[in-house]
Amino acid sequence: MTVVGSSSSIPRPDRACSSYLVQDDESSLVLDLGTGAFANLRRHVDYDRLDAIVISHMHADHFIDLIPLRYALCYGPFRRKRKLPLYLPPDGERMLHKLVGAFADEGGGDFISEVFDVRTYDPAATLAIGAGEIRFALTSHYIPAFAIRYERSGQSVTYSADTAPEDRIVELARGCDLFVCESTLLADDVERGMRGHSSGREAGQMAQAAGVRRLVLTHYAECATARDLDESARECFDGDVAVADDHQVLDIAPAHSNCRSSDHPAATRMR
Ligand SMILES: [Zn+2]
Ligand SMILES: [Zn+2]
Repeated sequence: MTVVGSSSSIPRPDRACSSYLVQDDESSLVLDLGTGAFANLRRHVDYDRLDAIVISHMHADHFIDLIPLRYALCYGPFRRKRKLPLYLPPDGERMLHKLVGAFADEGGGDFISEVFDVRTYDPAATLAIGAGEIRFALTSHYIPAFAIRYERSGQSVTYSADTAPEDRIVELARGCDLFVCESTLLADDVERGMRGHSSGREAGQMAQAAGVRRLVLTHYAECATARDLDESARECFDGDVAVADDHQVLDIAPAHSNCRSSDHPAATRMR
């Protein structure tokens, strides 16, 4: 799995918003494509080689780069033989058409469907993508959002999307190899009213309860330091902890548990 974007909702120099590329020898699956992520994604796989995109929820920091991807698919130098499957949450297609309808003709319908094979996933069902399977769990967030578990050949990764601490995600992530969990809040942050995010410590608590092999903290704020995130998660989680960085490559298979970075400078700089 390659971390394409690890920022919370505000992109920053060298750090895009949420996106993760899950690859093996045969397929390239993208989970979310947030602000600034498309340019990062192209460093690892170009758009004509993608097999599917799955969007967790319709907040801009998780899907807005579908728009530059659409321009690439429509006008770029690399052409696909078939439309790119795009899996949206319930009501996502209506929201996307409404957004692009502001600048595209005829409500934006063709703008999207010209290049994407748009499908609405059923969060209660298992979704087969190639030789892999996806299951979902409703998160605890401000709008309907879905955590995603992808399994293939006995290997599994669970991505929390955006969420406050949530038992449904613990169940979804149970026993998985890699748990990519948001850690938007700083240790002393207090969410007023409805909660929609977690801290690094709470990510550690979910990872511990789920018995995952490795926790990857992501979707963190500009003022968070890797050290603070790492330490707060380790207070609650006995397993391996990593802090996500754009362009970082993480092996999902237990036999290859080392984390390595690409040669991109952003992958090694200090936070
Ligand atoms: Zn977000
Ligand atoms: Zn969100």
